[in-house]
Amino acid sequence: MPDVHAQSNSRATHASHSGEMVLARLPEISGGAQLLRVVAGRQDAELIGGATRDLLLARTPKELDVVVESGAELLAQELAAALADAGASSDAGLQRGAHERFETAFVSWREGRIDITTRRGESYPSPGSLPDVRAGSPDDDLRRRDFTVNAIAVGLAGPRRAQLRSAPHSLEDLEAGRLRILHERSFLDDPTRLLRLARYSARLGFEPEQRTAQLAAEALRAGALGSVSPARIGAELRLALREEDPVGSLVALAELGVLGALDPPLSFSEQLARGGLAALPADGRSDPLLLASLLVSLDPGDGAAREAATKAFLDRLEFAASDRERATRAALRAPALVAALAAARSPSQLRRSVRGEPLEAIALAAAMDELQPPAPAASAARRWLDELRHVRLQVTGDDLLSAGVAPGPEVGRLLDALLDMVLDGKLGDSREAQLQAALGART
Ligand code: ATP
Repeated sequence: MPDVHAQSNSRATHASHSGEMVLARLPEISGGAQLLRVVAGRQDAELIGGATRDLLLARTPKELDVVVESGAELLAQELAAALADAGASSDAGLQRGAHERFETAFVSWREGRIDITTRRGESYPSPGSLPDVRAGSPDDDLRRRDFTVNAIAVGLAGPRRAQLRSAPHSLEDLEAGRLRILHERSFLDDPTRLLRLARYSARLGFEPEQRTAQLAAEALRAGALGSVSPARIGAELRLALREEDPVGSLVALAELGVLGALDPPLSFSEQLARGGLAALPADGRSDPLLLASLLVSLDPGDGAAREAATKAFLDRLEFAASDRERATRAALRAPALVAALAAARSPSQLRRSVRGEPLEAIALAAAMDELQPPAPAASAARRWLDELRHVRLQVTGDDLLSAGVAPGPEVGRLLDALLDMVLDGKLGDSREAQLQAALGART
């Protein structure tokens, strides 16, 4: 018996030490100091979810999650006022909002965000549906969460200040780097947790606990993803693409079997994705490129039907129109671009081969070609992306008009021909030489 006491005492000491550690680190996070000040008079506020997890791991949370007994919206108002006083004025993007029915509220500003929820319990009327939400006890509120490491709460003020409350196994899982669901039906109730599992395992370097891995595989085999709306799957995919290491998240999603369980199934090549990102210039967009690296795995069909199917798939997942267009174009054009890039014999031909193509399509073509050395298209693509596309003429359309060229399509044609000559090294950089060459190309 003395042993048991000693153990529980040492756990308690460990827990309050951890709670103090969270509170000590909180002011280092944007909005943390204001949060502590505003909740000082309250008894019910706890820091919870990813914020507590990250502070216990000495990581920087992306946002702060707070849970209260009641008054979420009022707390958001007080926080917004405190943040405005501290200089996070509206021109720094200070925003506040509330969801009356769910009794949640948020404050966001340029460097941070605080989400406030009212403690609740949840039940799932059918697998994959949105939960029915009711007021809940602090324990209900822990039990409704996805993984044990996200089910740790720290009292922010009052008699429970610095005290930890957590679901069974939470602290040991956090220490061991383990992701464990809270009950056996978790993935069936909410299959988006399958995508969250992959995202957290990639980001934190945590391993799914054995039974959790088994239940994830069973849920996927049973077609759990089919019970959840494609929009919610799309939302989780977008979060994966926005992770600091999005490729790592996609690798985890592929290994877990999530990508292969989508409708239609996707496969993922890490080499292709990393190659595409490496070739993509800073003014390109990584999300559509990575999405395109997934979409190239879709069944090749005839051009128009394939384009329509690809767009319909992204529409179901509710990707924004601009991402949908860029990703579809990159996925559909990249294979043909490989051939065109490899066939280009001069910089001007290279320009023609990529004309009007988005940067993501060219970068993806480079990565596709690199899968099969010696990869002539990849070096052409890189030369275009890194060097040739930045070449600028010393002469403008206005210069041609001043020199007597008639307004109309001829101006564009001459500038085009001139750029070809400059790219192919047939002319120097002097403005006069370029002007004469353009005028000499008149028909
Ligand atoms: P991040 O660090 O990416 O912000 P987070 O852990 O803070 O991750 P959020 O998506 O902000 O995650 O959600 C906050 C908390 O709400 C989570 O930590 C988790 O406890 C809970 N949660 C979110 N989504 C779910 C879900 N689908 N099922 C159960 N609990 C969830």
